[in-house]
Formats: sequence, structure tokens, C-alpha cells
Amino acid sequence: RPALPEGPWLVVGLARSGLAAGRALAARGATVTGVDSGTPALPADVGFPVQTGVDGLARLDGTGAARAVVKSPGVPPRAPVVAAARAAGLPVLGEVELAWRLVGAPVVAVTGTNGKTTVTEWLGHAWRCAGRPVRVVGNVGLPYTSLIGTDLEPGTTVVLECSSYQLFDTLAFRPEVGVLLNLESDHLDWHGSVEAYAAAKLDGMFGRQLATDVAIVPAAVAGRVPGAAARVLSDDVELPAEPALPGAHNRANARAVVAAARACGLPEDAIAEALRTFAGVEHRLREIAVVDGVRYVDDSKATNVASALTALAAIDAPLHLILGGDDAKQEDFGPLRAPVAARAASVQLVGAAAGRLQAALGTGTDRGDLGAAVAAARAAARPGDVVLLSPACASFGQYANYEERGRHFRSLVSAFS
Ligand code: ADP
Repeated sequence: RPALPEGPWLVVGLARSGLAAGRALAARGATVTGVDSGTPALPADVGFPVQTGVDGLARLDGTGAARAVVKSPGVPPRAPVVAAARAAGLPVLGEVELAWRLVGAPVVAVTGTNGKTTVTEWLGHAWRCAGRPVRVVGNVGLPYTSLIGTDLEPGTTVVLECSSYQLFDTLAFRPEVGVLLNLESDHLDWHGSVEAYAAAKLDGMFGRQLATDVAIVPAAVAGRVPGAAARVLSDDVELPAEPALPGAHNRANARAVVAAARACGLPEDAIAEALRTFAGVEHRLREIAVVDGVRYVDDSKATNVASALTALAAIDAPLHLILGGDDAKQEDFGPLRAPVAARAASVQLVGAAAGRLQAALGTGTDRGDLGAAVAAARAAARPGDVVLLSPACASFGQYANYEERGRHFRSLVSAFS
């Protein structure tokens, strides 16, 4: 892997990933400073000099000026300091590029519009089923940069969740196995900015792969995948066992898991066990309890209509649906009407979106908050039914984020048993 450029370094963005990157560079003896245009809460022991509330442009000039930049995933590509650094010819490395150059372990990288976290965690589970050393990095849990300088057991595989933004900020990154789950624009005629966006993303993942690498992709986009890697079409992968997770979307996720696990030589029996035993990721269509024969499913991550539709299609039982939350997006709830009418035995509404949901669905009772909605759903449910929190809305107003909403749901349900 290519060596790092010469410093001094400027780390732009001081959230978890940027802090880990700055510390790793400082630990290697590099001169590094960090900036953040906002005012993030920083730990006491940052480990390198930082400035907040500044755009960082001043660090590109004068004595000790930066000669290389680390861009955190949350920093927009048009941030003035990033644009100025590029214009000045400085190398700008995203966290994936930086960590990949400094962590030698082979990489299985996962990207796509939907299912990244699920597949990434599922792969980690498969490696554990096979008794092989693995580190799972990405949005959930640890940033990739946190592996820099740590001792990895020989033979360790890094399973990396990659957002498209992270793929845009790669220069030489080349995963041994690249997985593309799906693309929002799968069914569109690509053109203009959509084409450029998708192409940049595909380049970041596959463009530098070698013939010895593997690219796992849906047939629908295979023709657009660059690079020299061997192609595996995920649609064609046969499953060695029935996946524990519900829904056609999770079968698609499972096929990607199987393809990547096989590409890395995991034994079939371990792959089969991984399919049967993966419980899913928190707040994504996750069964959290069975009380009085009623299953409670937390899909708090469903913050838009598309995700709630996925959940409705995935669960084959009479549903007591809890919908609603923040309504700032003003999304059209119309597409939910037919599936809700077909599947829901009762509909409980919460939050600011309750009124618009009721109008769009032609059904549902505004319960105000989650506590009242869960109580009403429980009262309506019979053994064999499912109480499903799949809100189709963001949580803001009532919760800090979807995780907090999901945890509240779990605590309400655990009070029943
Ligand atoms: P990501 O990390 O890409 O946001 P997650 O694994 O967190 O994806 O899943 C988020 C939501 O996306 C799920 O609750 C589900 O509604 C939907 N989803 C998951 N996998 C798929 C898939 N393969 N195709 C379509 N939708 C999916």
C-alpha cells in the first residue's frame, strides 16, 4: 500500500473519526493540527493541537502550513478548506484511505444505498461463526482509523462499512472484496449528476481492484462496475441455510453475505450457521420480545416511507403498527395507504406527523406519545400478532435520535414481561 504523504497534516472535522485519525498521525510522529468549523464537544485528552469554530483556511498558508489533509466523513466535499487544499494540489485523504494505508489487514468493504450496516455486522458474525479473527468497522461501533497502530491478530480481516461519501475520498484504496448491495438509482436511466455520482462511488470501491480481487454486485449494475476484479452477481448466489432475518430485502442481504464469505474461503457450515443465527442489528426490524404470544419488533431506524414499506412487506402476521414522529420532511405518506390497509390490524399514531398520517392512511388513532401507543397496540394484539414500531418518520421533537426512540420502545415493552 502506498506510503503516507509528508506532513504537516491538517485534520478537518473533529468527531470520532477525525480524532482517531489525528491521534494516529501524532502517534507516528507526524506534525498534526485539527480544525472543526463547529464547536464539537472534545475529550480532555485530544492528543494533538486543535482549533474549533474556524474554517481552517489559515492553516494552508504561512510557516508550518499543512501539506496534507485528512477529511472526516461528515465534512462536505465543498467545504472551503477542502476545496482550497485540492486547488493547491495537496493530497486530501478520507478516513478510509488513511486507515487503509496504515492497517495492513485485507478488507471486505460493503457499500450501497440500503443494508450496509446489516450486511457489515452479518459478515462479522459469519467470521466469528468460523472462528476467524475479524474487526468490524464503520458507522456502527468503531471508526476504521481507530485500528491504526493496534496489534491485529495475524489473519485478521477488516469488514468495513463504506458510505458513498467515504468512497469519494479515496485515492488508492483497493478492497480485496468489494460488495455493492444496491443503488438508489438501480432502476433509473442514469444521466448527468446521477451518473457522475454513481460512477465516482463505483470507482472508489472497484476502480483499482486487481484480477485477484472480487467484486460482488447486483446484476442490474454489473455492466457499470469498473476494475479488473472477478465478478460475482449477488442475485445468483444460493443460500446454504434459511436466514433468520425476515423479508426479501434480508434475503438479498444474506446473498451478499454468503458471496463475500465464500470469496474469503469461510467454510460452508460456518456460513450456514451465520445465516441461521444472526439476530440482526439494533433498531432494524429487530424482534425484541415475545409477551403473551405477541411479538414486538423494533424498526426505529425506519425514518422514511421507503423503510416502513420494506418492514410492512417483510412481516407476515397481523400487524399493530406504530407510526409517526417528526414531520419536518413533509414526506408523502400516500404509498403507505394500501399496504397498511392490507396488513395492519390496528394503527397507532404519535408525534407531529400524526395528523397527516391519519389523513393519508384513512385510519389510525393519534395517541400522542410512544407510551400510549404501545399500550394501545398491546391491548389490541392477539397471540400470533406483531406489534411493529416502524415509524416512517424521524424521531426529532420527542427523541434525540432513532436509537433513543428504539431504546424507549424496548423499555416500554420490557415493563410488560
Ligand atoms: P444502511 O446502513 O445502508 O443505512 P441498514 O442495514 O441500517 O442500512 O438498514 C436500514 C434500513 O434499510 C432497514 O431497516 C430496511 O428498512 C432497509 N434495508 C435493509 N437492507 C435492505 C436492502 N437490501 N434493500 C432495501 N432496503 C433495505
